[in-house]
Amino acid sequence: MEDCIFCKIVKGVLPCTKIYEDEKVLAFSDINPAVDGHVLVIPKAHAFNIWDISQDDLAAVHKASKKIAAAIKKSIPASGVICMQLNGSDVGQVVMHYHLHLVPCAEGSKLSHLDVISGNGDTNKIKEIAGKIASAIS
Ligand code: AMP
Ligand code: ZN
Repeated sequence: MEDCIFCKIVKGVLPCTKIYEDEKVLAFSDINPAVDGHVLVIPKAHAFNIWDISQDDLAAVHKASKKIAAAIKKSIPASGVICMQLNGSDVGQVVMHYHLHLVPCAEGSKLSHLDVISGNGDTNKIKEIAGKIASAIS
């Protein structure tokens, strides 16, 4: 889709800090992470939301998220991971390309789903943490 920032990332027109990629899925660091290691998992094919995405792409995104969540657990290290996915502007969806947030809870930090709001991005830190997660993917 022409005006979609995540489609532009898939096409390589906009940059991202890539963590994982397969035929149907791309995962990259959130540009303004709520906490260290905040990852977005998206289908490469544009879909607005849960109502729009194909069964195959939905399965592929969630299958990939299992792999990435395991890597997050190992590399952050995290004792919990919040998987959050918003559908529609009324519930706060800002980017209208389906995306699953993976938000690690570092041991002892007792992160709540209510704390999942965008923070301020420090590019060097994001890249350093993304590298750790990406190399923990098996
Ligand atoms: P949502 O409210 O679920 O639509 O969240 C959109 C998320 O996308 C926010 O956490 C943003 O920080 C993130 N985001 C927006 N633009 C980019 C980008 N170019 N690269 C990575 N993450 C982005
Ligand atoms: Zn898109």
